[in-house]
Amino acid sequence: MKIPISKPNLDEEEKNAVQDVLNSGFLAQGKRVAQFEEEFGKYIGVSQAIATSSGTAALFIALKALGISPNDIVITTPFTFVATASSIMHCGAIPTFCDINPQTFNIDPNALERVLKKDRNSIKAILIVHLYGLPCPMEEIIALADQYGIPVIEDCAQAHGAEYRGKKVGSFGRASAFSFYPTKNMTTGEGGMILTNDEEFGKKCRMLINHGSKKRYYHEFLGYNFRMTDIAAAIGRVQLRKLDDSNQKRRENAIFYNRELSSLPEIETPVVPDYVLPVFHQYTIKLKHHRDDLARFFDQKEIGYGIYYPVPLHQQKFIHKIVGNGNYPMADACSREVFSIPVHPLLKKEELEHVVDLIKLFCQGGFN
Ligand SMILES: *Cc1c(COP(=O)(O)O)cnc(C)c1O
Repeated sequence: MKIPISKPNLDEEEKNAVQDVLNSGFLAQGKRVAQFEEEFGKYIGVSQAIATSSGTAALFIALKALGISPNDIVITTPFTFVATASSIMHCGAIPTFCDINPQTFNIDPNALERVLKKDRNSIKAILIVHLYGLPCPMEEIIALADQYGIPVIEDCAQAHGAEYRGKKVGSFGRASAFSFYPTKNMTTGEGGMILTNDEEFGKKCRMLINHGSKKRYYHEFLGYNFRMTDIAAAIGRVQLRKLDDSNQKRRENAIFYNRELSSLPEIETPVVPDYVLPVFHQYTIKLKHHRDDLARFFDQKEIGYGIYYPVPLHQQKFIHKIVGNGNYPMADACSREVFSIPVHPLLKKEELEHVVDLIKLFCQGGFN
């Protein structure tokens, strides 16, 4: 039995939607992007939505619209995908890392407070990540951000539809960025979205992704082409309608794994605080020892898995050169221990059982 770590949930509906766009002859940005923006903004509960060509573009443009400039400092987590930090660096700014809570994999508010105290004049933003689909502790983060007068940007690339105390992530910060890459909870192929409730901020983003123009061929400042296409938006509209069911399936798969795996002493199953509704972009267990042996075992059995992320960002060469040696022991430990297993909505009962059986077999085999 071969099981992939992720699989986009596509069927005839997406194919028909793309066919409609092709038949229309209008392939670039048009009414479908506008419809997708409106629907996605409404779903998250935010008034302004700007579709982009990727999640990375959405992050970068949100930071640009905030005015992040060379030598500014932006606080973020070292335990995330590289785009979180590279989007800061593309502004010429410097990422400053804040260690994580090893139980939730997200920024630790206590560590955040220590970082905020250190460099309060140059810190221009806090870029948080709701990793693996688990919302950050927003109450604590927003309270700190307000106390220090620093805006929060949310990287929601892994958390479409996740909720913190009944409110969807992506609606807490000054702005948020989503990704619609094929491995995410919903896809448009490549694509992304910036959300904000600030109308001026939204207008700035819209111009930035469109060569600095409101009116074609009249350019008010230096901009980019980071527009989404109508082909992508047509897929996204169908995917958005399926999102709640897909996320529910992910949660059910996670409940099954928790039930089967939480009693194994070699394994730590994911923790979900009771005030969040997670969307399990990943189901990530931790093994204090022999994580890489389990990876080899999964390779042998052709079962997909992921190690997100094997190298924390402060250890990535091009970032290390800029930030130097930092002390992020929790991120370091997590990068040695994490192991994500398939949790996507298309998994069948037999496949989930097979994954569980393999992990149990591995644990029974003893670690030597
Ligand atoms: C996927 C991802 C991104 C980047 O999104 P792309 O659409 O691939 O550019 C940014 N941040 C995080 C946390 C991600 O998982």
